[in-house]
Amino acid sequence: MSDKDHKDDMNIDDTKKHDTKDHEDNYESVCYLCRRPKSKVGKMIHIPNNIDICADCMQKTFDAINQGDNPYMQMMGLTPNMLFMPNLPNDVPKPQKLKKKKPEEEKEPEIIFDRRKIPAPHIIKASLDDYIIGQDYAKKVVSVAVYNHYKRIYSSKKSDIEIEKSNMLMIGPTGSGKTYLVKTLAKLLNVPLAITDATSLTEAGYIGDDVESVISKLLQNAGNDVEKAEQGIIFIDEIDKIAKKRNTNSRDVSGESVQQGLLKLLEGADVEVPVGATSKNAMVPLTTVNTENILFICGGAFPDLDKIIKTRLNKQSSIGFKADLKDKYDEEPNLLQKVTVDDLREYGMIPEFLGRLPIVFTLEGLTRDMLIKVLQEPKNAILRQYQELLAMDEVKLQFSEDALEAIAEKALEKKTGARALRAILEDIMLDIMYEIPKDDNIGSVQITKDYIEGTGVPLIEMRGTVNSKRIAARQ
Ligand code: ADP
Repeated sequence: MSDKDHKDDMNIDDTKKHDTKDHEDNYESVCYLCRRPKSKVGKMIHIPNNIDICADCMQKTFDAINQGDNPYMQMMGLTPNMLFMPNLPNDVPKPQKLKKKKPEEEKEPEIIFDRRKIPAPHIIKASLDDYIIGQDYAKKVVSVAVYNHYKRIYSSKKSDIEIEKSNMLMIGPTGSGKTYLVKTLAKLLNVPLAITDATSLTEAGYIGDDVESVISKLLQNAGNDVEKAEQGIIFIDEIDKIAKKRNTNSRDVSGESVQQGLLKLLEGADVEVPVGATSKNAMVPLTTVNTENILFICGGAFPDLDKIIKTRLNKQSSIGFKADLKDKYDEEPNLLQKVTVDDLREYGMIPEFLGRLPIVFTLEGLTRDMLIKVLQEPKNAILRQYQELLAMDEVKLQFSEDALEAIAEKALEKKTGARALRAILEDIMLDIMYEIPKDDNIGSVQITKDYIEGTGVPLIEMRGTVNSKRIAARQ
């Protein structure tokens, strides 16, 4: 091949043309030498036979050529000129391309507060009301705590009085909305959130995630933006599982020592974390995150805490003038709300840990009526989701009153709060979602109590007529 040909092949116009074409299809070129895609390496030079070479590799090649005494080149019998024309087979290789990622559409939540102009607590609570059913007390406590927390961070007025951090401890049965409350809050405030399970944490040096891994998680969720991460929220679930083990002689690596390990994070410390990985052993750069303004929320179901509370209350009421009936608190429905720090200490949480969670509050177990509301009232309620799906097929979906009650009853039996609702509904809706699209004439479906209990069929209305199709009863 002549010198002229060679120049033509390396024509920059050619590179441009290639670029535009690249843009049109969904694939991006990969460097022939280092295999990195164009999105990583930037502009590439296109040479014949569909070969692209990135600027870095090109530079390395030039460097190699300049070192005329390169022993490897000599060994391989290569001369500098030959480098541009590798001995290619006659059959032209396929273009080397990677499928491009589609740019993600950012879906903004409906209301996002500007953190720097944090709204008053009643406005925060009103927004939480759109998503979370009941739990009025918890929503109120959280709204005030969050308001104070961000006010403390953004206040320009410097004061001599140091305002304590509003870390929180949330106590409530499974499926009562603890995680959901924190998630909704982080979404509304538009701050990064990391959720971790206390059971997966161990003292540094033991198998499992060490406590600092949660900061890496937050940093990742903040898009590796340290400043953003430093104002985020960390939710540690199942915190009751790291209660101090009673009567044990073995070393408590997953209980008390994890509580000890969390102390400095809760208080505020500089933590060195890897960027883009959760393990410090990974070969990645480290950065420092200060946890002073990170809001920590711990949550747990604390099973049997009610027994500790009852024992304390019974003890108090059986002394002196206040002496009372021994079983007075047996039927008390809101026993958990009477929790004190002493009860939690008795449960196995260490005093230093509790001292760093100044706000303690409880969530109530969801009642039948609350479950019915969870099904249909929140902005993204499960029923609304199904209604929306069927509306796309122009079919109206309705649930009779007693059908909703039957679903709530079934969920109550499972004792996992609102968590059971989705599974129950998925099961009920499977046949409906399968059968309805078969027939374009179906105009509406009403789910009945009998259908939920497996003894009847849903009411189907065809467009224009009534009741002319049946879907079999569920097994
Ligand atoms: P947990 O208290 O165990 O953390 P979650 O917050 O994970 O419970 O609740 C599971 C699901 O149940 C949530 O995703 C949410 O859809 C629903 N849910 C629970 N409680 C409520 C509530 N009070 N209001 C609305 N939905 C709720």
